[in-house]
Amino acid sequence: MTTIPTGLTERLAVIEQDLLAMVEMVVERVGLVTSALLEGDVATADQLVDADDDIDLLSYQVEEGCIAALVREQPLQVDLRFVVAAMHINMDVERSGDLVSNIAKAVGRLQGSRPDDQMRDLVARMSAQAQLLMRRAAESLRTRDSTLAESIDELDDVLDDLHYYYTQHVISDARRGGLDPQQSLQLALVGRFYERIGDHAENVGERVRYIVDGWLPEIQAAQRARTRSEGPEPRPTRGLAVIDSIAESRRVDAIRRDFVANVSHELKTPVGAISLLAEALEGDQDVEDRKRLTEMLRREATRVGDIIDDLLELTRLEETETSFDVLDLDLIVHAAIEKVRSFADGNGVEISTVGLPAELSVSGDRRQLVRALTNLLDNAVRYSDPEQLIVVSVEAIEDGASITVKDDGVGIPRAELERVFERFYRVDRARSRDSGGTGLGLAIVRHVAQNHGGKVLVESKPDEGSSFSMHLPAAGTVNP
Ligand code: ADP
Repeated sequence: MTTIPTGLTERLAVIEQDLLAMVEMVVERVGLVTSALLEGDVATADQLVDADDDIDLLSYQVEEGCIAALVREQPLQVDLRFVVAAMHINMDVERSGDLVSNIAKAVGRLQGSRPDDQMRDLVARMSAQAQLLMRRAAESLRTRDSTLAESIDELDDVLDDLHYYYTQHVISDARRGGLDPQQSLQLALVGRFYERIGDHAENVGERVRYIVDGWLPEIQAAQRARTRSEGPEPRPTRGLAVIDSIAESRRVDAIRRDFVANVSHELKTPVGAISLLAEALEGDQDVEDRKRLTEMLRREATRVGDIIDDLLELTRLEETETSFDVLDLDLIVHAAIEKVRSFADGNGVEISTVGLPAELSVSGDRRQLVRALTNLLDNAVRYSDPEQLIVVSVEAIEDGASITVKDDGVGIPRAELERVFERFYRVDRARSRDSGGTGLGLAIVRHVAQNHGGKVLVESKPDEGSSFSMHLPAAGTVNP
Protein backbone atom coordinates (compact mmCIF):
# COMPACT_ATOMS: atom_id res chain seq x y z
CA MET A 1 0.00 0.00 0.00
CA THR A 2 2.99 2.28 0.33
CA THR A 3 4.62 0.74 -2.76
CA ILE A 4 5.10 3.13 -5.64
CA PRO A 5 3.90 1.28 -8.75
CA THR A 6 6.15 1.41 -11.77
CA GLY A 7 3.91 -0.01 -14.48
CA LEU A 8 0.42 -1.15 -15.22
CA THR A 9 0.80 -4.62 -13.73
CA GLU A 10 2.19 -3.28 -10.47
CA ARG A 11 -0.41 -0.57 -10.32
CA LEU A 12 -3.24 -3.09 -10.75
CA ALA A 13 -1.68 -5.34 -8.12
CA VAL A 14 -1.61 -2.45 -5.64
CA ILE A 15 -5.23 -1.62 -6.38
CA GLU A 16 -6.19 -5.23 -5.73
CA GLN A 17 -4.20 -5.41 -2.50
CA ASP A 18 -5.82 -2.21 -1.28
CA LEU A 19 -9.28 -3.50 -2.08
CA LEU A 20 -8.62 -6.78 -0.28
CA ALA A 21 -7.22 -4.87 2.70
CA MET A 22 -10.36 -2.74 2.78
CA VAL A 23 -12.59 -5.82 2.77
CA GLU A 24 -10.52 -7.33 5.57
CA MET A 25 -10.98 -4.15 7.62
CA VAL A 26 -14.73 -4.20 7.03
CA VAL A 27 -14.93 -7.87 8.07
CA GLU A 28 -12.97 -7.20 11.25
CA ARG A 29 -15.04 -4.16 12.11
CA VAL A 30 -18.33 -5.91 11.53
CA GLY A 31 -17.18 -8.30 14.27
CA LEU A 32 -16.08 -5.49 16.58
CA VAL A 33 -19.20 -3.41 16.16
CA THR A 34 -21.38 -6.47 16.75
CA SER A 35 -19.60 -7.17 20.04
CA ALA A 36 -20.02 -3.52 21.00
CA LEU A 37 -23.72 -3.76 20.19
CA LEU A 38 -24.22 -6.99 22.12
CA GLU A 39 -22.25 -5.69 25.12
CA GLY A 40 -23.79 -2.21 25.00
CA ASP A 41 -20.19 -0.93 24.82
CA VAL A 42 -20.67 2.68 23.71
CA ALA A 43 -16.98 3.63 24.09
CA THR A 44 -15.78 0.98 21.61
CA ALA A 45 -18.60 1.91 19.25
CA ASP A 46 -17.51 5.57 19.34
CA GLN A 47 -13.97 4.55 18.45
CA LEU A 48 -15.31 2.57 15.49
CA VAL A 49 -17.12 5.61 14.16
CA ASP A 50 -13.81 7.50 14.04
CA ALA A 51 -11.84 4.52 12.71
CA ASP A 52 -13.70 4.64 9.40
CA ASP A 53 -11.19 7.24 8.19
CA ASP A 54 -8.55 4.63 7.31
CA ILE A 55 -10.97 2.74 5.04
CA ASP A 56 -11.79 6.06 3.39
CA LEU A 57 -8.08 6.74 2.93
CA LEU A 58 -7.51 3.39 1.20
CA SER A 59 -10.59 3.99 -0.90
CA TYR A 60 -9.14 7.33 -2.00
CA GLN A 61 -5.88 5.58 -2.88
CA VAL A 62 -7.73 2.99 -4.99
CA GLU A 63 -9.58 5.73 -6.81
CA GLU A 64 -6.35 7.57 -7.55
CA GLY A 65 -4.77 4.30 -8.70
CA CYS A 66 -7.66 3.58 -11.05
CA ILE A 67 -7.54 7.06 -12.54
CA ALA A 68 -3.77 6.82 -12.98
CA ALA A 69 -4.13 3.42 -14.66
CA LEU A 70 -6.73 4.79 -17.05
CA VAL A 71 -4.97 8.00 -17.89
CA ARG A 72 -1.31 7.00 -17.86
CA GLU A 73 -1.20 3.33 -18.70
CA GLN A 74 -4.30 3.08 -20.90
CA PRO A 75 -5.11 -0.53 -20.03
CA LEU A 76 -6.60 -2.76 -22.66
CA GLN A 77 -9.36 -5.40 -22.51
CA VAL A 78 -9.10 -7.56 -19.40
CA ASP A 79 -7.12 -4.94 -17.53
CA LEU A 80 -9.60 -2.27 -18.47
CA ARG A 81 -12.38 -4.45 -17.15
CA PHE A 82 -10.48 -4.86 -13.91
CA VAL A 83 -10.06 -1.10 -13.50
CA VAL A 84 -13.74 -0.44 -14.16
CA ALA A 85 -14.74 -3.19 -11.74
CA ALA A 86 -12.23 -1.97 -9.16
CA MET A 87 -13.83 1.47 -9.13
CA HIS A 88 -17.22 -0.09 -8.41
CA ILE A 89 -15.87 -2.52 -5.82
CA ASN A 90 -14.13 0.38 -4.15
CA MET A 91 -17.43 2.17 -3.76
CA ASP A 92 -19.20 -0.91 -2.44
CA VAL A 93 -16.56 -1.68 0.16
CA GLU A 94 -16.25 1.95 1.20
CA ARG A 95 -20.02 2.10 1.73
CA SER A 96 -19.88 -1.07 3.76
CA GLY A 97 -17.38 0.73 6.02
CA ASP A 98 -19.91 3.56 6.34
CA LEU A 99 -22.56 1.02 7.32
CA VAL A 100 -20.34 -0.30 10.10
CA SER A 101 -20.09 3.30 11.34
CA ASN A 102 -23.87 3.58 11.15
CA ILE A 103 -24.22 0.51 13.34
CA ALA A 104 -21.67 2.02 15.74
CA LYS A 105 -23.68 5.26 15.88
CA ALA A 106 -26.83 3.27 16.63
CA VAL A 107 -25.04 1.61 19.56
CA GLY A 108 -24.44 5.13 20.90
CA ARG A 109 -28.09 6.03 20.45
CA LEU A 110 -29.21 2.87 22.18
CA GLN A 111 -27.32 4.24 25.19
CA GLY A 112 -26.06 0.98 26.52
CA SER A 113 -29.42 -0.79 26.46
CA ARG A 114 -29.01 -4.36 25.25
CA PRO A 115 -31.29 -6.34 22.95
CA ASP A 116 -33.05 -9.43 24.35
CA ASP A 117 -31.69 -12.97 23.87
CA GLN A 118 -33.48 -13.81 20.65
CA MET A 119 -32.56 -10.48 19.12
CA ARG A 120 -28.96 -10.95 20.24
CA ASP A 121 -28.91 -14.33 18.58
CA LEU A 122 -30.25 -12.91 15.31
CA VAL A 123 -27.81 -9.97 15.45
CA ALA A 124 -24.91 -12.39 15.93
CA ARG A 125 -26.09 -14.51 13.00
CA MET A 126 -26.65 -11.52 10.70
CA SER A 127 -23.19 -10.28 11.58
CA ALA A 128 -21.53 -13.66 10.92
CA GLN A 129 -23.41 -13.94 7.63
CA ALA A 130 -22.38 -10.43 6.54
CA GLN A 131 -18.76 -11.31 7.32
CA LEU A 132 -19.06 -14.56 5.39
CA LEU A 133 -20.45 -12.68 2.39
CA MET A 134 -17.63 -10.14 2.45
CA ARG A 135 -14.98 -12.85 2.82
CA ARG A 136 -16.47 -14.81 -0.07
CA ALA A 137 -16.48 -11.63 -2.16
CA ALA A 138 -12.78 -11.06 -1.38
CA GLU A 139 -11.94 -14.69 -2.11
CA SER A 140 -13.67 -14.56 -5.48
CA LEU A 141 -11.74 -11.40 -6.32
CA ARG A 142 -8.44 -12.93 -5.24
CA THR A 143 -9.02 -16.12 -7.23
CA ARG A 144 -11.04 -14.59 -10.10
CA ASP A 145 -13.48 -17.44 -9.60
CA SER A 146 -16.79 -16.45 -11.14
CA THR A 147 -18.64 -19.51 -9.80
CA LEU A 148 -17.57 -18.56 -6.31
CA ALA A 149 -18.71 -15.00 -7.04
CA GLU A 150 -22.08 -16.29 -8.21
CA SER A 151 -22.53 -18.31 -5.02
CA ILE A 152 -22.61 -15.04 -3.05
CA ASP A 153 -26.23 -14.52 -4.16
CA GLU A 154 -27.34 -17.55 -2.17
CA LEU A 155 -25.46 -16.41 0.92
CA ASP A 156 -27.21 -13.10 0.61
CA ASP A 157 -30.61 -14.81 0.52
CA VAL A 158 -29.82 -16.29 3.94
CA LEU A 159 -28.90 -12.86 5.28
CA ASP A 160 -32.13 -11.43 3.87
CA ASP A 161 -34.12 -14.13 5.68
CA LEU A 162 -32.31 -13.46 8.95
CA HIS A 163 -32.99 -9.77 8.49
CA TYR A 164 -36.66 -10.48 7.89
CA TYR A 165 -37.00 -12.57 11.10
CA TYR A 166 -35.04 -9.99 13.02
CA THR A 167 -37.29 -7.12 11.87
CA GLN A 168 -40.40 -9.12 12.70
CA HIS A 169 -38.99 -9.70 16.16
CA VAL A 170 -38.20 -6.02 16.68
CA ILE A 171 -41.70 -5.06 15.56
CA SER A 172 -43.47 -7.57 17.76
CA ASP A 173 -41.33 -6.60 20.73
CA ALA A 174 -42.14 -2.95 20.15
CA ARG A 175 -45.83 -3.82 19.94
CA ARG A 176 -45.70 -5.73 23.19
CA GLY A 177 -44.20 -2.64 24.76
CA GLY A 178 -40.87 -4.37 25.46
CA LEU A 179 -38.96 -1.64 23.64
CA ASP A 180 -39.48 2.08 23.46
CA PRO A 181 -40.12 3.40 19.94
CA GLN A 182 -36.75 5.12 19.64
CA GLN A 183 -34.95 1.91 20.56
CA SER A 184 -37.11 -0.08 18.15
CA LEU A 185 -36.25 2.29 15.37
CA GLN A 186 -32.52 2.09 16.09
CA LEU A 187 -32.64 -1.70 16.29
CA ALA A 188 -34.66 -1.92 13.08
CA LEU A 189 -32.08 0.29 11.36
CA VAL A 190 -29.22 -1.86 12.66
CA GLY A 191 -30.76 -4.90 10.93
CA ARG A 192 -31.08 -2.96 7.72
CA PHE A 193 -27.39 -1.94 7.92
CA TYR A 194 -26.22 -5.56 8.16
CA GLU A 195 -28.48 -6.45 5.27
CA ARG A 196 -27.02 -3.67 3.13
CA ILE A 197 -23.49 -4.84 3.83
CA GLY A 198 -24.64 -8.14 2.31
CA ASP A 199 -26.00 -6.28 -0.74
CA HIS A 200 -22.64 -4.61 -1.22
CA ALA A 201 -20.84 -7.96 -1.03
CA GLU A 202 -23.26 -9.26 -3.66
CA ASN A 203 -22.35 -6.29 -5.86
CA VAL A 204 -18.66 -7.10 -5.45
CA GLY A 205 -19.41 -10.63 -6.65
CA GLU A 206 -21.14 -9.21 -9.70
CA ARG A 207 -18.11 -7.03 -10.49
CA VAL A 208 -15.82 -10.05 -10.20
CA ARG A 209 -18.02 -11.86 -12.68
CA TYR A 210 -17.69 -8.86 -14.94
CA ILE A 211 -13.89 -9.08 -14.75
CA VAL A 212 -13.96 -12.78 -15.58
CA ASP A 213 -16.92 -13.17 -17.92
CA GLY A 214 -17.51 -9.71 -19.31
CA TRP A 215 -20.62 -7.69 -18.93
CA LEU A 216 -23.33 -10.15 -17.90
CA PRO A 217 -26.50 -8.47 -19.13
CA GLU A 218 -24.82 -7.99 -22.49
CA ILE A 219 -23.83 -11.64 -22.67
CA GLN A 220 -27.28 -12.76 -21.59
CA ALA A 221 -28.92 -10.50 -24.17
CA ALA A 222 -26.61 -11.89 -26.84
CA GLN A 223 -27.48 -15.45 -25.79
CA ARG A 224 -31.17 -14.67 -25.91
CA ALA A 225 -30.83 -13.11 -29.33
CA ARG A 226 -28.89 -16.14 -30.56
CA THR A 227 -31.50 -18.63 -29.36
CA ARG A 228 -34.29 -16.49 -30.78
CA SER A 229 -32.93 -16.14 -34.25
CA GLU A 230 -30.50 -19.03 -34.42
CA GLY A 231 -29.12 -16.85 -37.13
CA PRO A 232 -25.80 -15.06 -37.44
CA GLU A 233 -23.86 -13.78 -34.43
CA PRO A 234 -25.38 -10.62 -32.99
CA ARG A 235 -23.54 -7.43 -33.84
CA PRO A 236 -21.36 -6.19 -31.04
CA THR A 237 -23.30 -3.60 -29.04
CA ARG A 238 -20.96 -2.95 -26.17
CA GLY A 239 -21.02 0.86 -26.35
CA LEU A 240 -24.78 1.13 -26.59
CA ALA A 241 -25.43 -1.54 -23.99
CA VAL A 242 -23.14 0.17 -21.52
CA ILE A 243 -24.84 3.51 -22.03
CA ASP A 244 -28.25 1.86 -21.63
CA SER A 245 -27.13 0.18 -18.48
CA ILE A 246 -25.86 3.43 -17.02
CA ALA A 247 -29.12 5.21 -17.86
CA GLU A 248 -31.10 2.34 -16.35
CA SER A 249 -29.02 2.20 -13.20
CA ARG A 250 -29.34 6.00 -12.79
CA ARG A 251 -33.09 5.69 -13.14
CA VAL A 252 -33.22 2.89 -10.59
CA ASP A 253 -30.99 4.90 -8.26
CA ALA A 254 -33.26 7.92 -8.58
CA ILE A 255 -36.35 5.83 -7.82
CA ARG A 256 -34.59 4.32 -4.84
CA ARG A 257 -33.52 7.75 -3.56
CA ASP A 258 -37.08 9.08 -3.84
CA PHE A 259 -38.38 6.03 -2.08
CA VAL A 260 -35.91 6.31 0.79
CA ALA A 261 -36.74 10.01 1.14
CA ASN A 262 -40.45 9.16 1.25
CA VAL A 263 -39.98 6.42 3.82
CA SER A 264 -37.92 8.71 6.03
CA HIS A 265 -40.54 11.41 5.74
CA GLU A 266 -43.36 9.00 6.56
CA LEU A 267 -41.55 7.65 9.60
CA LYS A 268 -40.46 11.04 10.86
CA THR A 269 -44.00 12.13 11.69
CA PRO A 270 -44.93 9.28 14.04
CA VAL A 271 -41.44 9.09 15.50
CA GLY A 272 -41.50 12.85 16.19
CA ALA A 273 -44.93 12.48 17.77
CA ILE A 274 -43.67 9.60 19.90
CA SER A 275 -40.84 11.62 21.37
CA LEU A 276 -43.13 14.59 22.08
CA LEU A 277 -45.69 12.31 23.72
CA ALA A 278 -43.00 10.66 25.79
CA GLU A 279 -41.85 14.05 27.01
CA ALA A 280 -45.41 15.07 27.83
CA LEU A 281 -45.93 11.82 29.70
CA GLU A 282 -42.85 12.41 31.79
CA GLY A 283 -44.06 15.77 33.04
CA ASP A 284 -47.70 14.83 33.65
CA GLN A 285 -48.87 13.23 36.91
CA ASP A 286 -52.60 13.22 36.20
CA VAL A 287 -53.79 9.61 35.86
CA GLU A 288 -56.39 10.33 33.17
CA ASP A 289 -53.96 12.41 31.13
CA ARG A 290 -51.36 9.69 31.35
CA LYS A 291 -53.86 7.12 30.10
CA ARG A 292 -54.74 9.31 27.14
CA LEU A 293 -51.11 10.02 26.32
CA THR A 294 -50.21 6.35 26.59
CA GLU A 295 -53.01 5.47 24.20
CA MET A 296 -51.76 8.09 21.74
CA LEU A 297 -48.22 6.73 22.08
CA ARG A 298 -49.45 3.23 21.34
CA ARG A 299 -51.28 4.45 18.24
CA GLU A 300 -48.17 6.16 16.88
CA ALA A 301 -46.05 3.08 17.56
CA THR A 302 -48.64 0.96 15.73
CA ARG A 303 -48.39 3.32 12.79
CA VAL A 304 -44.60 2.87 12.62
CA GLY A 305 -45.15 -0.88 12.85
CA ASP A 306 -47.79 -0.84 10.08
CA ILE A 307 -45.56 1.15 7.75
CA ILE A 308 -42.68 -1.27 8.35
CA ASP A 309 -45.04 -4.24 7.85
CA ASP A 310 -46.24 -2.87 4.50
CA LEU A 311 -42.69 -2.07 3.40
CA LEU A 312 -41.64 -5.62 4.22
CA GLU A 313 -44.64 -6.92 2.32
CA LEU A 314 -43.65 -4.90 -0.75
CA THR A 315 -40.09 -6.20 -0.51
CA ARG A 316 -41.38 -9.73 -0.18
CA LEU A 317 -43.62 -9.29 -3.23
CA GLU A 318 -40.63 -8.06 -5.22
CA GLU A 319 -38.23 -10.71 -4.07
CA THR A 320 -40.08 -13.95 -3.46
CA GLU A 321 -41.52 -16.15 -6.13
CA THR A 322 -45.28 -16.15 -6.55
CA SER A 323 -46.66 -19.66 -6.19
CA PHE A 324 -49.42 -20.70 -8.53
CA ASP A 325 -51.93 -22.99 -6.88
CA VAL A 326 -55.51 -23.65 -7.88
CA LEU A 327 -57.58 -21.52 -5.49
CA ASP A 328 -61.29 -21.21 -4.88
CA LEU A 329 -62.20 -17.57 -5.05
CA ASP A 330 -64.97 -17.78 -2.48
CA LEU A 331 -62.48 -19.00 0.13
CA ILE A 332 -60.15 -16.09 -0.64
CA VAL A 333 -63.03 -13.63 -0.35
CA HIS A 334 -64.21 -15.02 2.99
CA ALA A 335 -60.70 -15.11 4.43
CA ALA A 336 -60.20 -11.44 3.54
CA ILE A 337 -63.61 -10.41 4.92
CA GLU A 338 -62.79 -12.14 8.22
CA LYS A 339 -59.61 -10.11 8.46
CA VAL A 340 -61.37 -6.75 8.21
CA ARG A 341 -64.48 -7.77 10.13
CA SER A 342 -63.66 -6.08 13.42
CA PHE A 343 -62.42 -2.90 11.68
CA ALA A 344 -65.70 -2.76 9.73
CA ASP A 345 -67.80 -3.45 12.86
CA GLY A 346 -65.92 -0.76 14.75
CA ASN A 347 -66.78 1.74 12.00
CA GLY A 348 -70.40 0.61 11.71
CA VAL A 349 -69.91 -0.45 8.07
CA GLU A 350 -71.50 -3.58 6.65
CA ILE A 351 -69.89 -5.93 4.13
CA SER A 352 -71.96 -8.19 1.90
CA THR A 353 -71.12 -10.54 -0.96
CA VAL A 354 -72.89 -11.24 -4.22
CA GLY A 355 -72.45 -13.95 -6.82
CA LEU A 356 -69.79 -16.08 -5.22
CA PRO A 357 -69.90 -19.23 -7.35
CA ALA A 358 -68.18 -21.94 -5.32
CA GLU A 359 -66.64 -23.50 -8.43
CA LEU A 360 -64.84 -20.38 -9.69
CA SER A 361 -61.14 -20.85 -9.24
CA VAL A 362 -58.00 -18.98 -10.23
CA SER A 363 -54.35 -19.76 -10.40
CA GLY A 364 -52.44 -17.91 -7.72
CA ASP A 365 -50.75 -17.36 -4.44
CA ARG A 366 -53.23 -17.61 -1.58
CA ARG A 367 -51.34 -15.37 0.86
CA GLN A 368 -50.81 -12.63 -1.71
CA LEU A 369 -54.41 -12.66 -2.94
CA VAL A 370 -55.89 -12.56 0.56
CA ARG A 371 -53.58 -9.68 1.39
CA ALA A 372 -54.56 -7.71 -1.74
CA LEU A 373 -58.27 -8.21 -1.19
CA THR A 374 -57.91 -7.34 2.50
CA ASN A 375 -56.26 -4.06 1.48
CA LEU A 376 -59.14 -3.22 -0.88
CA LEU A 377 -61.70 -4.02 1.83
CA ASP A 378 -59.71 -2.11 4.42
CA ASN A 379 -59.79 0.98 2.18
CA ALA A 380 -63.49 0.55 1.43
CA VAL A 381 -64.16 0.62 5.20
CA ARG A 382 -61.73 3.47 5.82
CA TYR A 383 -63.24 5.72 3.16
CA SER A 384 -66.91 4.93 3.91
CA ASP A 385 -69.15 6.57 6.49
CA PRO A 386 -70.97 4.66 9.23
CA GLU A 387 -73.98 2.62 8.05
CA GLN A 388 -72.78 2.51 4.47
CA LEU A 389 -72.56 -0.79 2.64
CA ILE A 390 -69.61 -2.49 0.94
CA VAL A 391 -70.28 -5.15 -1.67
CA VAL A 392 -67.80 -7.78 -2.80
CA SER A 393 -68.65 -9.52 -6.04
CA VAL A 394 -66.95 -12.12 -8.15
CA GLU A 395 -67.57 -12.90 -11.79
CA ALA A 396 -66.09 -15.04 -14.51
CA ILE A 397 -64.52 -13.04 -17.32
CA GLU A 398 -62.74 -14.15 -20.46
CA ASP A 399 -59.70 -16.22 -19.41
CA GLY A 400 -60.20 -15.67 -15.73
CA ALA A 401 -62.12 -14.05 -12.93
CA SER A 402 -62.66 -10.61 -11.55
CA ILE A 403 -63.16 -9.66 -7.90
CA THR A 404 -64.75 -6.28 -7.25
CA VAL A 405 -64.98 -4.31 -4.02
CA LYS A 406 -67.53 -1.53 -4.26
CA ASP A 407 -68.25 1.12 -1.66
CA ASP A 408 -70.54 4.17 -1.40
CA GLY A 409 -67.90 6.22 0.38
CA VAL A 410 -66.04 9.48 -0.25
CA GLY A 411 -64.86 8.55 -3.75
CA ILE A 412 -61.77 9.75 -5.62
CA PRO A 413 -61.54 12.77 -7.96
CA ARG A 414 -60.91 11.79 -11.56
CA ALA A 415 -57.55 13.54 -11.74
CA GLU A 416 -56.20 11.47 -8.86
CA LEU A 417 -57.35 8.06 -10.07
CA GLU A 418 -54.08 7.23 -11.81
CA ARG A 419 -51.96 8.19 -8.85
CA VAL A 420 -53.60 6.32 -5.99
CA PHE A 421 -51.53 3.22 -6.80
CA GLU A 422 -48.25 5.06 -6.21
CA ARG A 423 -46.43 4.38 -2.99
CA PHE A 424 -47.41 6.87 -0.26
CA TYR A 425 -49.81 8.78 -2.51
CA ARG A 426 -52.96 9.82 -0.68
CA VAL A 427 -55.89 11.94 -1.79
CA ASP A 428 -56.84 12.96 1.72
CA ARG A 429 -53.75 12.69 3.85
CA ALA A 430 -55.51 13.46 7.13
CA ARG A 431 -58.29 10.90 6.65
CA SER A 432 -55.80 8.22 5.64
CA ARG A 433 -53.57 8.94 8.64
CA ASP A 434 -56.36 9.28 11.19
CA SER A 435 -57.85 5.97 10.19
CA GLY A 436 -54.53 4.13 10.22
CA GLY A 437 -53.66 4.16 6.50
CA THR A 438 -50.05 3.76 5.45
CA GLY A 439 -50.32 4.97 1.85
CA LEU A 440 -48.95 1.63 0.66
CA GLY A 441 -52.11 -0.49 0.48
CA LEU A 442 -52.90 0.01 -3.20
CA ALA A 443 -49.23 -0.28 -4.22
CA ILE A 444 -49.35 -3.75 -2.67
CA VAL A 445 -52.60 -4.57 -4.50
CA ARG A 446 -51.12 -3.54 -7.84
CA HIS A 447 -47.99 -5.57 -7.17
CA VAL A 448 -50.00 -8.67 -6.34
CA ALA A 449 -52.07 -8.29 -9.51
CA GLN A 450 -48.90 -7.89 -11.59
CA ASN A 451 -47.28 -10.93 -9.96
CA HIS A 452 -50.31 -12.88 -11.14
CA GLY A 453 -50.25 -11.53 -14.67
CA GLY A 454 -53.47 -9.64 -13.90
CA LYS A 455 -54.45 -6.00 -13.36
CA VAL A 456 -56.43 -3.67 -11.09
CA LEU A 457 -59.09 -1.29 -12.40
CA VAL A 458 -60.75 1.54 -10.54
CA GLU A 459 -63.90 3.54 -11.13
CA SER A 460 -64.87 6.28 -8.76
CA LYS A 461 -66.80 9.53 -8.33
CA PRO A 462 -66.39 11.96 -5.46
CA ASP A 463 -69.20 11.59 -2.91
CA GLU A 464 -70.66 8.60 -4.76
CA GLY A 465 -68.15 5.87 -4.01
CA SER A 466 -65.46 3.71 -5.55
CA SER A 467 -65.18 0.33 -7.17
CA PHE A 468 -61.86 -1.54 -7.40
CA SER A 469 -61.64 -4.71 -9.53
CA MET A 470 -58.80 -7.18 -9.64
CA HIS A 471 -58.65 -9.31 -12.81
CA LEU A 472 -56.94 -12.66 -12.40
CA PRO A 473 -56.17 -15.39 -14.90
CA ALA A 474 -58.11 -18.66 -14.66
CA ALA A 475 -56.55 -21.74 -13.09
CA GLY A 476 -54.18 -23.49 -15.47
CA THR A 477 -53.58 -20.48 -17.71
CA VAL A 478 -50.51 -19.12 -15.95
CA ASN A 479 -47.08 -20.53 -16.39
CA PRO A 480 -45.27 -20.10 -13.11
P1 ADP B 1 -53.98 4.38 2.47
O1 ADP B 1 -53.29 3.52 3.44
O2 ADP B 1 -53.72 5.84 2.64
O3 ADP B 1 -55.42 4.07 2.34
P2 ADP B 1 -53.69 3.23 -0.17
O4 ADP B 1 -52.48 3.01 -1.02
O5 ADP B 1 -54.46 2.04 0.22
O6 ADP B 1 -53.23 4.06 1.08
O7 ADP B 1 -54.63 4.21 -0.96
C1 ADP B 1 -54.10 5.41 -1.52
C2 ADP B 1 -55.13 6.52 -1.48
O8 ADP B 1 -56.18 6.22 -2.38
C3 ADP B 1 -55.80 6.71 -0.14
O9 ADP B 1 -55.06 7.53 0.71
C4 ADP B 1 -57.13 7.32 -0.52
O10 ADP B 1 -56.96 8.72 -0.71
C5 ADP B 1 -57.43 6.70 -1.88
N1 ADP B 1 -58.35 5.55 -1.75
C6 ADP B 1 -58.03 4.24 -1.74
N2 ADP B 1 -59.12 3.46 -1.66
C7 ADP B 1 -60.17 4.30 -1.60
C8 ADP B 1 -61.59 4.12 -1.50
N3 ADP B 1 -62.14 2.90 -1.45
N4 ADP B 1 -62.35 5.22 -1.47
C9 ADP B 1 -61.81 6.46 -1.54
N5 ADP B 1 -60.49 6.70 -1.63
C10 ADP B 1 -59.69 5.64 -1.66
